[in-house]
Amino acid sequence: MDIPGTPASALTALVEALDSTAVRVVDLTAPLSAETPVLQLPPEMAPIPRFSLEELARYDERGETSFQNGIHTGEHVGTHFDAPCHWITGVEHGDVSQVPVRRLVAPAMVIDHAAECAADPDFLLEVEHLQAWQDEHGPFTAGWLLFRSGWAARSRDEAAFLNADATGPHTPGLSVAAAQWLAEQTPVIGYGVETVGIDAGQAFSFEPAFPAHSFLLGADRYGITQLQNLDQLPPTGAVVVVSPLRIVGGSGSPARVIALLENGSH
Ligand code: MN
Repeated sequence: MDIPGTPASALTALVEALDSTAVRVVDLTAPLSAETPVLQLPPEMAPIPRFSLEELARYDERGETSFQNGIHTGEHVGTHFDAPCHWITGVEHGDVSQVPVRRLVAPAMVIDHAAECAADPDFLLEVEHLQAWQDEHGPFTAGWLLFRSGWAARSRDEAAFLNADATGPHTPGLSVAAAQWLAEQTPVIGYGVETVGIDAGQAFSFEPAFPAHSFLLGADRYGITQLQNLDQLPPTGAVVVVSPLRIVGGSGSPARVIALLENGSH
């Protein structure tokens, strides 16, 4: 029975909350352009194509009333989604077109170690950091664990964002033990970061190499990268919507990532 003055449905309540600004939409997505920083791969691997636009028509002889472009991009460019098959450990879990859509809408759990990352670009989240978060905010649930490193502040300067020197890139990430623990001991759907990829800059030298990719994608979890505005999210209470393109056979996709949060929750 509907009670007068109360919303008739959960979705009606959501729309009313959006209209009244009781619920706010925050864009966690970086602008996507030719200037978007791209992961630099070792010379034996093919380089990731940068994002670019190819103008097809612009209200001209190619289409008097029409403006449209072709787009060219690597799958793993900008704010993007890593499907399980991106890593050999996750090949049986499928491509980006096969991700169950229900899993793309989920609660956010934000862990903030931006201060440590500012002091040490190679800062690693350890199991103890994750357990300390749980002690304060409750157990991890089937949602997105989002690592606030502060790295998004560097995203308009590719050199600062990639932060590489003769010993390779220096950017924060997950330790081997933390990646394995998240994949095996928690129900998180995925792990999101502000950096160019879900692994730490130095993860090529870890054992195993690239543990976030190896353990998380191998356990049918997802990655999202190059997030911004995580400072606007509370540790818990926001809901994240992740929308990779449904590319058949794709290992990932640029994605729009938005968060819904209740005013007063931060
Ligand atoms: Mn990727």
